[in-house]
Amino acid sequence: MLLITCPVTRSDELVADRRIRSVVNHPTHIALHVECPCGAVHVYRTGRRWDAVRGQRAASAAAPARAARELAPA
Ligand SMILES: [Zn+2]
Repeated sequence: MLLITCPVTRSDELVADRRIRSVVNHPTHIALHVECPCGAVHVYRTGRRWDAVRGQRAASAAAPARAARELAPA
């Protein structure tokens, strides 16, 4: 399961793993394409390095919308 914040409805949605359309591994992050209950596909970026960069930015800039969390352990 994956907890996402839908940018359309701005609500937290718990989606099943099978709703994850694709996972793309980038050097700095992992992009998750998630089929949302609202009907759209949203892209979420996650990963340790991405979180580290975000953490550094948080000190000087307003915190952006909460990113998708890591997949829960099976
Ligand atoms: Zn949505």
